Formats: sequence, C-alpha cells, structure tokens
Amino acid sequence: MRMIEKLKELERISRELEPSGDKRKNWENKVLSYSHDFIDDLEHEKAYYHEDQKGKGILEFDISEEATSLDRLLEGNSRHLNTTGINPASGGHMGYIPGGGLYPSALGDYIAAVNNRYAGVFFAAPGAVRLENMLLRWMCRLMGFPENSAGNLTSGGSIANLMAMVTAREAHKLKARDFDKAVIYLSEQAHHSIQKAIRIAGLSEAHLRYIALDEDLRLSAAELEKAIIKDKKDGLIPFFINASLGTTNTGAIDPIQSIAEIAERYDLWFHIDAAYGGFFKLVSELETKFKGVEKADSITLDPHKSLFLPFGTGAILVKNKQALLKVHHYMADYMQDTADANEEISPADISPELTKHFRGMRLWLPLKLFGLRPFRAALEEKLYLARYFHEEIGKIDGFQVGPNPELSVAMVRFVPQNGSANDFNNRLLEEVRKDGRIFLSSTSINGVFWIRVAVLAYRTHLDKIELLLGILKEKKENLVKAYVV
Ligand SMILES: *Cc1c(COP(=O)(O)O)cnc(C)c1O
Repeated sequence: MRMIEKLKELERISRELEPSGDKRKNWENKVLSYSHDFIDDLEHEKAYYHEDQKGKGILEFDISEEATSLDRLLEGNSRHLNTTGINPASGGHMGYIPGGGLYPSALGDYIAAVNNRYAGVFFAAPGAVRLENMLLRWMCRLMGFPENSAGNLTSGGSIANLMAMVTAREAHKLKARDFDKAVIYLSEQAHHSIQKAIRIAGLSEAHLRYIALDEDLRLSAAELEKAIIKDKKDGLIPFFINASLGTTNTGAIDPIQSIAEIAERYDLWFHIDAAYGGFFKLVSELETKFKGVEKADSITLDPHKSLFLPFGTGAILVKNKQALLKVHHYMADYMQDTADANEEISPADISPELTKHFRGMRLWLPLKLFGLRPFRAALEEKLYLARYFHEEIGKIDGFQVGPNPELSVAMVRFVPQNGSANDFNNRLLEEVRKDGRIFLSSTSINGVFWIRVAVLAYRTHLDKIELLLGILKEKKENLVKAYVV
C-alpha cells in the first residue's frame, strides 16, 4: 500500500515533464515570437558584439531544484547569449567560414526532437535511416561516387576528417609497430582538424610531409610525387594524402586530378577535405575544378557551411563501404535482435556513434522545401560577391589584395606609407570589430597579416558587401590620420 502511495506521489511530480496542450502552445508561442523577432531584427543587429561581460550573466541561471519561467529564460538567452560574441545568423558575418542557419532546419530539429526517432539503427527507425542514407547517396552522386559507396552524417567536418583518417589507417592495415614509418602528405594550408585527427587516431609518430605550395597556395603535385618516391625508397610507408577542396584560409583548391593520379599510382588513401568548398559543385561554372573528385577514397563535406545549415551537421563519404564497416561495425549481445536488416546500412555500423541526433531531418526539410535551385543561386551569388569585393577593394589606393578568389574567400591588407603593415591591419580589423556591423577574421601567410573576407552566410548580399567596402574605407582613413599625428 505504501508503495502505491509513493508511486502516485512520484507520478504526480514526474508528470510535470509532460506539459498540457495549452501549456505547450503557450511555450511555443513565446519561443516562436522570440525567434521571429530575432530574425526580423537581424538586418539591424550587429554581426559582432564587442562587450566586456562576455556572457557572464548566464551563470546566474545555474541548475536549481525549482522551475524557472520561460519568459525569464528567454530573457536570459537574449541578454547573455545572443548579444555577445559573433552573431553567425547575421549576413554581416564574414569571418572564419560562415553558414547562417536555415530556418526550416530549426523546424526539422523540432520535428526530430519531438518524434525522437532512433536514427542510428535501421531496425529501430527504418524510415529515418533510409532518409539519411538517401541524403548521403545524393551527396555521393554529386561527387561522382558510385551508388554502393557509404557515408555518414557527422556533427561536423572535424569528425568526418577523423573518421577518414582512422578508416585509411585500418584499410592500409597499419599496426602500432608501423606508425613511426607511416607518412601522411598534406599542405600547410590544410585545416588543423587534419592534424588533430592524426593525433587522435594514434598517429602522432607518423611523418607529416608538408608539400610545397605554388604561389596561389595550392599543393604542388610534382613535389608530392617526389616526396612519395623518396619516402618509399627510404623504406617508409606512405599511406595518406589530404587535399583541400577550398582551404579555409584562402579558398584555394589543390590540383585534385593530378593528386588523384599520384594516389592511384602509389596506392595511397586519397582524402579530400571539402568541408568548405564541397557544395560549390552545385555551381556549374566550377565543375572543372572538381575534376578527379570521384577518384578520392573519402570526402569530407560540411552542410553547416556551404548548405547554410545551423551548426551540427557534417558528412563523410567513403567509396569503399567495407573499409568503413571494418573500423566501426560491432555487434553487442544486447543488440542481437537488430541484426536482421541488410537493406540499408545502419549509421551505427559505420560511425563511432550509436545513439545519435537524427540529423537527416534538419537537412532534408530545407532541401525539399526550397528545392536545389536557390541553393545553387546562393552559392553562385557568394562566389560573385567575393569577386566583386576583391575587385572593388583593389581599386582603393593603398589596399593590396590576395590571389583571385577561387571560391568565396578574399584576402586584403592595407599597406601604410610608414610603420608596420601588420600592426596597421591588426588595428584596422579591431576597428571593424568594434563597429560590429560586419565581422571579419584574419590570417597570417608567411608572416604577413591578412584580413579575410569569407562570403558564405546565405544572408550576405550585395548591400552587405557595399557596407563592408564603406566601413573598410572609413576605418582605414581614420587610422591613417591617427598614424600621421
Ligand atoms: C571548417 C573546416 C573543417 C572543420 O569542420 P567543422 O565542421 O568545423 O568541424 C575542416 N576542414 C575545412 C577545410 C574546413 O573549412
């Protein structure tokens, strides 16, 4: 009897976790009106909030026994989260690699969370797994991979690169005793997640060969081949080449076709890190730059960059499905009744994850709701915006520009009459950030400080580029005056 009373008491409280229909609607209305205000105000909001608190106020919202009202929580979110640091939703975000956060993806996440399908295993969620695999087959087709390739939706490009590294290590049957003879080829412009992957994959003893770059910062295929020949002669084990299809720094595309031939000739795993550039394949003008992509063993893509999704979705494509399975497939006793399905490969069998976010929904919903056409147009627009910026800023006296943008990143620096150019550009960048309407980042190439303009947020259009040109011109003039005094 006491047990029943206890259970009833517990049930009364635990049922608070299932709000009534009225309460749900009330919360929804608040969240929706908050979200719409956020989107509607974006045009006038900053791309970067230069403020001292750095979100400290959120610490007043530590976990407590008692409930807090949604109004208070939303207020905390706006005050301490949304108005500090970078605003990635803004069309003024042109630092690092922006993306944006398509609205239907938020609806997709909402549906995925409400339904909570177990998308890691075909047996548990056949429809959800089919949907994710269908999206991955679309990406495989886009890259010219055969139908029987495999892929996985990851949390981002870094994990995709890590999966490629581990898969290559196993496909080449490298054992711990081989690690200090193994050789990995990349360029200094490779994304640092590759080095991170090497370390996490246990390969920090491996030799890293940084292949020389041409003047447009592309890996030199001739130098690559020389290095491989020498390493083979020296009894080492060359096994992995990383090519960047769109470096993060400058958007440079390594010579894919030539690298593919070398990888084939010497039997190395050929990985293409296309986290930034991959979906530019949708722009027909760029088709030729993708020649040879289909020869890769693995490709990293990042829908949260060039498909404008909110953060949290990358992809790895691997041509040889068996190689992915060899690394990741594992059958636990308690999962024996999930073994039946051979129709579709389960994400859990080809990735380190078991239980996972149903990422497919946030990708599928916008792609289907909009169709591909506006995605192609947006990517082509970003390409032209970067070219336009590069051209226009180059016309202003004293500004020096980097290479012609291959994708949508342009580099620029101002060269003052006297004093250190690096200092000047550092201060110029700081002034742009204090202004906040546009957010830019910087990079150093051979000791030279460059301001980067990365156009990839889907909300960035011509007006924002004009605004940026105006801001750079104005801040530069103020600084020049300050330098003369
Ligand atoms: C962004 C990026 C990555 C890392 O991807 P995340 O999604 O940030 O983990 C890897 N490679 C390149 C070229 C990138 O631009």
